[in-house]
Amino acid sequence: MMMTDTRAPNVDDAEIAKFSELAHKWWDKESEFKPLHDINPLRLGFIEEYATLTGQQVIDVGCGGGILAESLAEHGAAVTGIDLAEKSLKVAKLHLLESGNKVDYRCISVEEVAQQQPGQFDVVTCMEMLEHVPSPDSVVHACTQLAKPGGWVFFSTISRNPKAYVHAILGAEYLLGLLPRGTHDYARFLKPSELSRMARHSGLDVVDVRGMGYNLLNKTYHLTTQTDVNYLIACRKAIA
Ligand code: SAH
Repeated sequence: MMMTDTRAPNVDDAEIAKFSELAHKWWDKESEFKPLHDINPLRLGFIEEYATLTGQQVIDVGCGGGILAESLAEHGAAVTGIDLAEKSLKVAKLHLLESGNKVDYRCISVEEVAQQQPGQFDVVTCMEMLEHVPSPDSVVHACTQLAKPGGWVFFSTISRNPKAYVHAILGAEYLLGLLPRGTHDYARFLKPSELSRMARHSGLDVVDVRGMGYNLLNKTYHLTTQTDVNYLIACRKAIA
């Protein structure tokens, strides 16, 4: 179902409730959020392969407790972080007191901020969020609107195929217990081809798609050319 206008916002309240319940654990690196802490250096590296961060205006969409937002700030960016889970933003703001980083956190939908600040960001990041919203298409469009011409837009999500089901749901939630059961809904997974099409339709050039793999033996993540489970995508907004 498409839910993109302001009367029917593009948000699944059950998803927001799920993240709110865990919000106090955002910065506990051994918690349910461990996988996000573990992949953070990889996605930061991927972003920096393409975009400059120092002195740039960056917005992190679906920022949660600020794991990525803070590291973008540490690398010199002026960062805005948005999410619809108030509790997560509260934790994110408290953590700034501890870390000394600066991030401007706002509880607002990406569609709304795109209307307020179109074309104002050099870099837009939206990680591990598309698989939690009713209309990923609407989020992709809003992220594109937020970027300056020539700006960079990065997404990460999970592909949809039998291997992704086995790895991301059976493996991560049921066998390894890396994530709480029910974290992900298979039907919301997006193939790189589908996300690329959405990106192109909204005015982005897809520059790179990279997989994120998990090594069962040493429990570490790595970037890979295999994009059939978790993957990142780098896009650039057309200059004019
Ligand atoms: N991007 C962060 C957090 C990923 S978890 C990271 O990768 O570290 C998914 C996040 O998306 C949660 O913080 C959740 O509250 C947020 N979210 C889910 N639906 C949303 C929506 N419709 N609008 C904004 N944020 C949303």
